[in-house]
Amino acid sequence: MRRAGSVVAGALTMLRQNLSVGMTTQNIDDLAMSFLKKNNAKPAFLGYRGFPASICVSINSEVVHGIPSSKRKILDGDIVSLDFGCVVDGFYADSAVTVPVGKVSDAALKLIRVTEESLERGIWAATAGNRLGDIGFAVQSHCEEAGFSVVRDFVGHGIGRSLHEEPQVPNYGKKGAGLRLVPGMVLAIEPMVNAGGHEVRILEDEWTVVTLDGRLSAHFEHTIAITSTGPEILTR
Ligand code: MG
Ligand code: MG
Repeated sequence: MRRAGSVVAGALTMLRQNLSVGMTTQNIDDLAMSFLKKNNAKPAFLGYRGFPASICVSINSEVVHGIPSSKRKILDGDIVSLDFGCVVDGFYADSAVTVPVGKVSDAALKLIRVTEESLERGIWAATAGNRLGDIGFAVQSHCEEAGFSVVRDFVGHGIGRSLHEEPQVPNYGKKGAGLRLVPGMVLAIEPMVNAGGHEVRILEDEWTVVTLDGRLSAHFEHTIAITSTGPEILTR
């Protein structure tokens, strides 16, 4: 899983550096696929429940699961969420970042910063002996203190020989509640954070999740292993 995680991290770093105004979201998918080929890894999302691409690209009010398209261009001021996963020798890794492109509003930058911070807080809470609710509480309280809301309808997950395994890892919760974390568990922690309300809906393409109120959303994710000496981030 460290090997899969390192490929995902490398791909997202490369994509972040290459994102620019005018490129299409299909261009992003093409770059991601060629990176996987060079690294002898397979896409985790292509064909998953029929998903037609290797990466999810979700822009502005799109929360997650945006489908790349040759008709969709990145515009100046967009915030672009890239969610990417791969498989190496049967093991999965999954990670996401939200990237500002061009001249982005201060409010959007704050949303991105707080979402990334909330992921860090969630990871700090992912120590052996803590519980799932401690992760959700850490994420949720940080976002809500900043005036944002966490999405309820989609959550993080266990990951390993499959992309999505038990348990679900919500971005909300109560301290000390839920499953106890033990060394050897590997989780994908992935706050999806909205500038407005937490409600979302799915577009007619049956994949793209957007905020119900049309306001911005950001998404960060890491695959982390619980160890006896603390969380190890496999996708950094
Ligand atoms: Mg993901
Ligand atoms: Mg995930």
